[in-house]
Amino acid sequence: MRAVPLIQIDDNKNWQTILAEAVRDGHELLRLLQLEGSGLAAALGGDKQFPVLVPRPFIALMNKGDEQDPLLRQVLGLQEEELQVPGYVTDPLGELPANVRPGVVHKYHGRVLLIAAGGCAVNCRYCFRRHFPYADNRIGRKQWQEALEYVAGNDSISEVILSGGDPLLLDDAALSGLCKQIADIAHVRRLRIHSRVPVVIPQRITAELVSMLAQTRLQVSLVLHVNHPAEISSQLVRGLDSLRREGITLLNQSVLLQGVNDDPHVLCRLSEALFAAGVLPYYLHRLDHVQGAHHYALAHERIAELYRYMKEHLPGYLLPRLVCEEAGQPHKTVLMV
Ligand code: SF4
Repeated sequence: MRAVPLIQIDDNKNWQTILAEAVRDGHELLRLLQLEGSGLAAALGGDKQFPVLVPRPFIALMNKGDEQDPLLRQVLGLQEEELQVPGYVTDPLGELPANVRPGVVHKYHGRVLLIAAGGCAVNCRYCFRRHFPYADNRIGRKQWQEALEYVAGNDSISEVILSGGDPLLLDDAALSGLCKQIADIAHVRRLRIHSRVPVVIPQRITAELVSMLAQTRLQVSLVLHVNHPAEISSQLVRGLDSLRREGITLLNQSVLLQGVNDDPHVLCRLSEALFAAGVLPYYLHRLDHVQGAHHYALAHERIAELYRYMKEHLPGYLLPRLVCEEAGQPHKTVLMV
């Protein structure tokens, strides 16, 4: 059973204020969780290039006094991240060659990824983009026009993906303007938004956001990123419900992480809880071998064991596809286990 929330969130605060009040220091995070005297305090580090960033609603879902809390383990920077481990690189998915112009990553046929924002609301320590040159991809009005012209000039693109930096860090007016411009491109039929903001700041699902996504002519899907059932708060469920009622497709992708969700019961509970919230489990990713994240990796045999258990205990529609991404491949690779 999870403890009583240790941080009370004022429901009247808007999401921008909540984001501004996010915790940006490992010691402060440990203090809030009453873990300042624990072994974790001596192990802090790894955050010079990739700072700690954790919104308080996400911290409120953590267990006080629990060094192994699966949400804490995803966001606490540790010295282990500084180790150079062979095979772990800064661009594990080979995105840089596909970064065809600032803000545009065109890797797969038929869809293109636009980097809508220069950061996220939370810095997940295992993130495959933890070394991505967001500064070089911060685009102004002129480059936005060029990015949209790129999409308009390539009629094989039927889907635009807004991805991390997290697109839901754009305010509703900016997002609405962008959606309109994308919708003006006749051959684009679908808009996909990849976001973890609703998980860490559920207040981001505003009535304005829901109404804007409901009004576009594009078919909209929102791909969340939830790794553990404890991340699914009642406020997130309410927000997702309002999106679902407007016909927005809700999907989830998770990453298999040692010390977070490497437990077959947790993974099955995650699928069940997502579906109860109207979200289909879409992908279960093997960890991308990004420099700084080796300590989250699971051996292939363990991955196979976990996935076999899921296959045996879940109906097919609750079984996410087990995949990895390989640099240079024209699609994700489904792992056969
Ligand atoms: S929200 Fe997604 S893109 Fe942002 S740090 Fe976390 S995993 Fe990376």
